[in-house]
Amino acid sequence: MKLGIIDYPTGKIGEGKAGVEETFEKLSRAKVDIYTPFFFERNKPYWELIEPVMKQARKRGIAVHASVECFCRWEHVGDAPERNYQLGTPELIPERLKQLPEKESWRCPSWPENQDEVLRLIKRLANDYDFDGINLDFIRFCNSEILRRSPCVCAACRKARLQYLGKEVLTHDEILMPAFRAEMNGNEYLTFKSEKMYKEIQYRNKVITGVVRKARKLLKKDQALTVDGRANYFRDAIFEGQDWAEWAKEGLVDMVRAMSYSTSFEYFSKAYVDEHVKIMGNNRARLCEIIGKGSSAGKLSTAEMIRQIEYALAAGVETIYIFAMGSLEESDIDALSEIKR
Ligand SMILES: [Zn+2]
Repeated sequence: MKLGIIDYPTGKIGEGKAGVEETFEKLSRAKVDIYTPFFFERNKPYWELIEPVMKQARKRGIAVHASVECFCRWEHVGDAPERNYQLGTPELIPERLKQLPEKESWRCPSWPENQDEVLRLIKRLANDYDFDGINLDFIRFCNSEILRRSPCVCAACRKARLQYLGKEVLTHDEILMPAFRAEMNGNEYLTFKSEKMYKEIQYRNKVITGVVRKARKLLKKDQALTVDGRANYFRDAIFEGQDWAEWAKEGLVDMVRAMSYSTSFEYFSKAYVDEHVKIMGNNRARLCEIIGKGSSAGKLSTAEMIRQIEYALAAGVETIYIFAMGSLEESDIDALSEIKR
């Protein structure tokens, strides 16, 4: 078993290097192999954090994969709102989701300028520092919940659509018909069947795969490329242009880290781990499960976290990540150290 931890260390900058040292002391005790920090806060870089992190990592023999948030929340890039996701059919968006695209300022991957911003950052991280790997987070179009009801109508998406569909926007019927109502976790979902949506989804996957391909070329030979994969492969990943199983099959990425955050053991084991193992097939070695100790899905107790780890290991998953460093308590560190024996 290999163990990884995701961390947001930018808060440690005020306390200086002591915060970083304390983090690595904990990582050592938990017998962590890979540390994946975000050196950015909404893509504002904290370059000064890199040196103390790398110094500690080398001293303790822990690999560092720097994580990059690719296509969302570039809040500091406020000068080009036209390059953000544009809602085309607000009348199809339920009230509870209405604020989401605006709030998140989702950078639309259709813009070459947005792609270049991401690639420049990856290039600098890969070239100027000695990271063992680079991880791509948010390597996709915006949330399927929104996208399903309202494909992006920014200028770049319209222009692209003109080429693959012969027109700039999809009609309600093309987005929705025939639609089936389905329910999951108490929320109502609409599922669709449409040939035009097939072209739309195919386009998204082509765009994002193109960015991953370019990112790969920017890395040094011995640097690993990993991606954070949406845990629901068909409903979310495929729909948002993130065909991580294909990327793994092609060898484009060294590791897919499935964000399998759930406080329900049933859901974690059946809907996530079992599905991922089936989807990855012979490429299972490239699969990693991220367990949400403290995530958007809620909190796990130490025992629940260990139960999920053990299930994934038994299913043949070799690398386990924990999300996130800030949610780890002393009992978790002890338990992780124990399971790594
Ligand atoms: Zn767009």
